[in-house]
Amino acid sequence: MKNIVVLGGGESGVGAAVLAKQKMFAVFLSDQGKIKPKYKKILQKHSIAFEDEGHTTSEIFKADIVIKSPGIPDDLLLINNLRNQGVEVISEIEFAYRFTDATIIAITGSNGKTTVTKMVYHILEQANLSVAMVGNVGDSFAMHLATQPEVDNYVIEVSSFQLDNCVSFKPHISILTNITPDHLDRYNNNFNLYRKAKFKILQNQGQDDFFIYNEDDLAITEFLPKISTNVQLIPFSKKQLKQNIAAFIEQNTIKINLNQQKTFNMSINNLNVKGTHNAQNAMAASTAARLLKIRKQTIRESMESFRGVEHRLEEVKVLNNVNYINDSKATNINATFYALDSMTKPTVWIVGGVDKGNNYQDLLALVNERVKAIVCLGIDNSKIIDAFGKTVDELVETANMADAVLAAQHFSNAGDTVLLSPACASFDLFENYEDRGRQFKECVRKL
Ligand code: ADP
Repeated sequence: MKNIVVLGGGESGVGAAVLAKQKMFAVFLSDQGKIKPKYKKILQKHSIAFEDEGHTTSEIFKADIVIKSPGIPDDLLLINNLRNQGVEVISEIEFAYRFTDATIIAITGSNGKTTVTKMVYHILEQANLSVAMVGNVGDSFAMHLATQPEVDNYVIEVSSFQLDNCVSFKPHISILTNITPDHLDRYNNNFNLYRKAKFKILQNQGQDDFFIYNEDDLAITEFLPKISTNVQLIPFSKKQLKQNIAAFIEQNTIKINLNQQKTFNMSINNLNVKGTHNAQNAMAASTAARLLKIRKQTIRESMESFRGVEHRLEEVKVLNNVNYINDSKATNINATFYALDSMTKPTVWIVGGVDKGNNYQDLLALVNERVKAIVCLGIDNSKIIDAFGKTVDELVETANMADAVLAAQHFSNAGDTVLLSPACASFDLFENYEDRGRQFKECVRKL
């Protein structure tokens, strides 16, 4: 019997352990931190040996295969030592993949992963296909395989950390939404390393597979020619730049032109989700659906009924003709760029939190044009004040959500929008971005 050691006792680690146990491996799970009670219960239920608040190295080195959770850095001494001993270190996605022959649609990118994943899933469901959505949204891939009936199609949101430790993972369709600086702390502050990790999504794809990617993103198009692959390239773009663009926008209509298929048209006005970035997301998702031969009408109807995802440009309430929008998931500059870009009314912008090396200059033109007041919400707001202090009429610092929302209400008039789009991580004042978004909604509803 082979030994599997799982490092990390969160959603993906526990899923991997349960699957490994089911597949008759000897399993041991180890977590440096505390394992949540709900995960401990699952491990106990499946009689899986585990430890938390520390690693017992002697146990870990018995492993034939180590499944490493995405939160654990790749350059940890323990991981290096394991590799040097010839132990195979893989991700949970890689492990799960080894136990299914289903069709895989995998989505990665710096922003838009969850949105596109949910869009693709929604279309496939509406088309009555046998489908599950796994990865960073919902169950982990491994947990789903271990505990639910197998389906024909898995739509998987994959992070760069999961891709880092993939070996044979081979999606039939992969989607790369965009690549902008994020998580660089995990890649020696080297954008190229981060970019390389994203491109691993296509490393095993072949001539019968498809790679859908954003042709408008230089970080992608510069790098693609350096990769040797025979996957079918399916670029999408905001414009029909050249003949080979498979999907593009023309006169507010998404058009998809695939080999030997009639052109697909869908009016952007009919989409429920707003903003250029969401038109791009819809384009990527619909292209995947066309490649799976789903009927045009089903795709159109699915995209019209797609409601958007909580904490992503989510409309909370209209009060005194002021529209309050929760975009708490915007934890980097690029996401906030698209949020500001989709604002059509004078905007009071709530921004701030833990800075991830932000360059606010990228937002200056949009702020100049659309933002009337800034409410800083964070412990250290100095970079925001330096960047925009002279640009906007009003700027105030707050250190909790209730004060931020009250200040935003104070600065807004009928016809304005109040936008929470922090461009920063949340853990200076909140548990996570969901907590930040929920507090925003509660405070707005109390106004
Ligand atoms: P991810 O799963 O990659 O973090 P989400 O779909 O959760 O992506 O969206 C994260 C943030 O990025 C939200 O603020 C959302 O409005 C914004 N966003 C969504 N799609 C895109 C896109 N294609 N380009 C840039 N920003 C986007």
